[in-house]
Amino acid sequence: MIYFDNAATTKPCAEAVAAVNDALERFANPSSLHKLGLEAELIVTDARETVAEALGAKAEEIYFTSGATESSNTAIFGAFRAHGKRKNRLVITSVEHPATAAPAQLLEELGCEVIRVSPREDGRFYAEDIAAAVDDNTFMLSMMLVNNETGYILPVQETFSLVKRKHPYVLLHCDCVQGFMKIPFKVKKLGADMISLSGHKIHAPKGIGALYLRKGVHIPPLLYGGGQEKGFRSGTESVPLIAGFGAAVKKLSPTVKERLDYVGGLRDRLARKCNENGFSVNSLPDASPYVVSISVKGLRSEVLLHYLEKRDICVSSGSACSKGKKSSVLGEFGLDAVSDSTVRVSFCADNTADEVDELIKQLTNAENDLCKVK
Ligand code: PLP
Repeated sequence: MIYFDNAATTKPCAEAVAAVNDALERFANPSSLHKLGLEAELIVTDARETVAEALGAKAEEIYFTSGATESSNTAIFGAFRAHGKRKNRLVITSVEHPATAAPAQLLEELGCEVIRVSPREDGRFYAEDIAAAVDDNTFMLSMMLVNNETGYILPVQETFSLVKRKHPYVLLHCDCVQGFMKIPFKVKKLGADMISLSGHKIHAPKGIGALYLRKGVHIPPLLYGGGQEKGFRSGTESVPLIAGFGAAVKKLSPTVKERLDYVGGLRDRLARKCNENGFSVNSLPDASPYVVSISVKGLRSEVLLHYLEKRDICVSSGSACSKGKKSSVLGEFGLDAVSDSTVRVSFCADNTADEVDELIKQLTNAENDLCKVK
């Protein structure tokens, strides 16, 4: 099986699986005061330190959640509840993942003014366009680092720095799900107050993620209960999933640059061969190489996806979350004309050049077999 759907989810690495199993054995509640409880707590502490170090953050700034959807919901609803009485505007981009777009829409229904900044005609975002949407009435700006459908890298650092200079009290949130452990960044340089992370995109299990909350930033929690995670995220910690997340980050963080170069080579090979065979590459050349949007003219995404799946190649049409629903994101990037025939090829460092060649071979076969039939 050739797996090119790593933006949807990744295979848990052996280190994460071993850490999960080990933590399942050491099953105590980390809040318990006996020594087994302490052992479980140490697993959580170790993972927290690992995630913090990878981000260039302090351990106390990391809160474990059930995934990036919860992290982003916590950030957005928390920011609104902290500041929404005095300020009414939320700024996001028009290409955010539903984990950001849907909470924003709910706030809009509740009376918030939501500004969705679009890319320019060249398919790129400009920091000054996004910063210009932020005014004195804005309580939050939320933008993603890497788009999950095209790999486009948004100018987060430049935008946050422009906004911070003019509006120092606006909360800055970044969905870093498709960038974490894939492209190098540190929280200080990025300038974010809050960052959402997800475990299952980086070879950890599903159901675990984190929210980075810069020290000094105060928002109320989404979940209330037993007061775990310093009262910010109640619910008994999932020690096994947290352990798996920590183990995956520990494994990946020393090789971010190396893997980026390697995956960059796979993307270049794919792009070159697509060009040679007349297939379109929709992603920009400076996008994250982990996500490549391609189209075969005259072939509908779903048809192509199933053709490839029958030949043991897994890709996705748009993002996995859109589940066949037409995505508005490609249109936002100026890709409306090809969006019906787009498939997303998303890599991890376990993929190989031979797999890319096999994909190209099967795309060519698909074109011959299916376009002729039409
Ligand atoms: N943000 C982006 C950019 C994503 O790609 C995803 C997952 O598809 C999410 C957020 C949601 O992450 P999770 O599945 O951990 O809730």
